Amino acid sequence: MSVLRPYRLERELDSAFYHWLAWLPQWQPDSLRPRQSTCARCPRYVDALGLDELPHAPLHGLFGAVELLVAQQFDREVDAQFPGLRAGGDWTVGVHHGVVHVANRDGESLDIVLERQERSVALDVPTWVSADEAADARVTLVRSYWSLFEAAVARLGLQRSLILRAVDAHVEPKVRRLADELIAEVCGAA
Ligand SMILES: [Zn+2]
Repeated sequence: MSVLRPYRLERELDSAFYHWLAWLPQWQPDSLRPRQSTCARCPRYVDALGLDELPHAPLHGLFGAVELLVAQQFDREVDAQFPGLRAGGDWTVGVHHGVVHVANRDGESLDIVLERQERSVALDVPTWVSADEAADARVTLVRSYWSLFEAAVARLGLQRSLILRAVDAHVEPKVRRLADELIAEVCGAA
């Protein structure tokens, strides 16, 4: 169950973190645009870890790897907790930017199926796992996802000071240099 510590996820997170740390010295700024406000992935992690002072670009890759590992662990939990849910192919389960999605084999979201069932508009093809059972499973799976997200944040939180120091050493000087170059360009270099 998800109350257990996800040791495998923790190991994978550690390895992704050290991989990112080893890569960071090669990071190069390609522009001075501050933060991509359109990024749907990072803000949850940035907020949870209190890293909002840091530039977004070098962190984007780290959180991409983390998000993928959390999604893979979530996928394993779906099968462990509800082995029948996807077995017949009636339902698909996935997570996208922190939101758990359940859909039927035609790709219709569970909410649409439930709504139709409630209004008895049309009779759905019987499934091995009913829409109501799928809805119950979703409640549990949303909780499982959030406990995995929290576990990932807690694990990364252990490295927070290392993240701050690494960004200070490998990112800040490059950002400053780029800013100086831009200023020199605009004002005409002396
Ligand atoms: Zn991002």
